[in-house]
Amino acid sequence: IFITFEGPEGAGKTTIIQLLQEKFAQRKGEIVFTREPGGIKIAEKIREVILNKEHTEMDARTEALLYAAARRQHLIEKVIPALDEGKIVICDRFVDSSLAYQGFARGIGIDNVYSINEFAINGVMPNVTLYFDLDPEKGLERISRSTIREVNRLDLEKLAFHQKVQEGYRLVNERFKDRVEIIQADQPIEKVMQDVLDILKKYMVV
Ligand code: C5P
Ligand code: MG
Repeated sequence: IFITFEGPEGAGKTTIIQLLQEKFAQRKGEIVFTREPGGIKIAEKIREVILNKEHTEMDARTEALLYAAARRQHLIEKVIPALDEGKIVICDRFVDSSLAYQGFARGIGIDNVYSINEFAINGVMPNVTLYFDLDPEKGLERISRSTIREVNRLDLEKLAFHQKVQEGYRLVNERFKDRVEIIQADQPIEKVMQDVLDILKKYMVV
C-alpha cells in the first residue's frame, strides 16, 4: 500500500513521519518511510538543484520537469520495488505537491503538470493521501520559528504564494477526493498523531 502525506510548509508532515518511524522502529522491514523530492541519491541531487537559494532564475516549467524526473527515479529505485515486496510505503509529498505548487501556484496549469507527471509515474498512484490542512499564515509562522528546518529557495516566497498553494491543494483534493483524507494540522502534535494513526488503522497499517 502506497501512502502519501501532503500539505503546505509547516504543517507537520515531516515531524509526524519521524514520530511514526520511532513508533514502528521494530517493523523496519515492513514499512518504508521516504520523501520527495529525494529519497535516493539521484533525486536528492535534483532536490539540491531545485531548492538551492542561488537558483532564483529557475523557470517554472524547468522546476516542474525536475520534480517529475526526481519522482520517476525515486519510484523506480525505491517505491515500486518496496510495493512489489508487499511493503507499506509512506512518502512525504508526491504528485499532488507538483499539482498545487507548480501547477496552480506557479501558474503552469494543473492539467499541464499532471500530464508530465503521468509520463513520469506511468500509472503508480497513492492508495491514500493524508492532507495536512493548515492556514498559510500559521504555516509561515511555524517555519519562521523552526530551527531544525533547512532554509530553501521557497522561503523567499511571500504569503500570497502560500495562499495560492492552499487554493491549489483544495482543487487537487477535490479532484482526488476518493483517496484524500484531511487531517486538521492546527492541533497539538499528539492530537495530530492520533488522527493520523486512526486513519492508518483503517488501512490496516497499525
Ligand atoms: O517537503 P519539504 O518541506 O521538504 O519540501 C521542500 C520545499 O520544496 C518546500 O519549500 C516545498 O514548498 C517545496 N516544494 C515545491 N514543489 C513541490 C514540492 C516541494 O515547491 N512539488
Ligand atoms: Mg517537511
